[in-house]
Amino acid sequence: MKVTEHIKNAKGSTQFSFEVLPPLKGQNINTIFDNIDPLMDFNPLFVDVTYHREEYTYKNLGNDLLKKQVVRKRPGTIGICAAIQNKYHVDAIPHILCGGFTKEDTENFLIDIDFLGINNVVALRGDAIKSETYFTPDKEGHAYASELVTQIADLNKGIYLDEDLQNSSKTDFCIGVGAYPEKHMEAPSLDSDIYFLKKKIENGADYIITQMFFDNQKYFDFVDKCRAEGINVPIIPGLKPVAVKKHLNVLPHRFHVDLPEELISEIIKCKDNKAIRQVGVEWCIQQSLELKKAGIPILHYYSMGKSDNIRAIAKEVF
Ligand code: FAD
Repeated sequence: MKVTEHIKNAKGSTQFSFEVLPPLKGQNINTIFDNIDPLMDFNPLFVDVTYHREEYTYKNLGNDLLKKQVVRKRPGTIGICAAIQNKYHVDAIPHILCGGFTKEDTENFLIDIDFLGINNVVALRGDAIKSETYFTPDKEGHAYASELVTQIADLNKGIYLDEDLQNSSKTDFCIGVGAYPEKHMEAPSLDSDIYFLKKKIENGADYIITQMFFDNQKYFDFVDKCRAEGINVPIIPGLKPVAVKKHLNVLPHRFHVDLPEELISEIIKCKDNKAIRQVGVEWCIQQSLELKKAGIPILHYYSMGKSDNIRAIAKEVF
């Protein structure tokens, strides 16, 4: 079922969904099932599976020789979605990127997931890879998620890259896109970020999932701003519990989000990561309960390969 249909069916209740990462190359599918199993008790509406593009590394061959290698550490997004749908009979949603994809790759990815009976996809640009300072699209690919949304929306109309295709079938994807209550790190202002977010909706996106935030007021203000700009699609909040001390620095650095002073001081007081995990769980429960009270139809959790803390939160909220 499409995410937008799930939202319609929620009829005033608040439902659960979460995101998983494909396992590192070399691990088997059970690593991901072990993380999903404990969360199935809370009847998730859907499970998102992230996409991880290739990175370039340099292998030292000795004699001052370096060999450039292409590595994809977490392949398997489509296979994992198929495995999740098959095992749990829940909607699995692959993320698809501009980065590392030609338009042809994009079309073939979409055809694959369509054949698997997947009718949801989240369209994202992707970040710069480690060897680049700025995000660089493939020569034959898309520079912004809004362009990727257009390609998906075109396929929904039966428009393929090869204009000579006869009697081509239409896909029926429900398209999600990302957004940033605290502004995307490259955007010069929140207003400009929302201006381009609106382009993604105008090009055919059906709903939005936000970056994590730790202060609900930032989400509420962001939703108000989007509504004032005429963005009327559902805006699903993305939540992540702080779990280890290094998150104090990693989360603001990597995701460009602020942690509230009160949360920071609670974490600093903790003796070990076990105590920090508990603080993170309790903070996220409070955030979730407030969002639930506000009537938000879906709360989406970033599990990042660990499910015990998400389970502890879900037990209190759903
Ligand atoms: P875009 O919407 O293209 O925006 C990127 C920047 O460009 C923004 O600053 C925007 O304001 C600006 N912009 C947009 N259009 C234009 C234009 N026409 N002209 C000028 N500026 C413009 N990354 C992964 O690698 N894999 C994942 O699975 C993944 N999942 C994610 C899930 C969610 C819910 C979110 C919020 C992010 C996810 N990311 C993922 C990270 C994402 O790829 C990065 O945040 C990336 O830097 C931006 O992606 P976007 O789709 O928001 O980009």
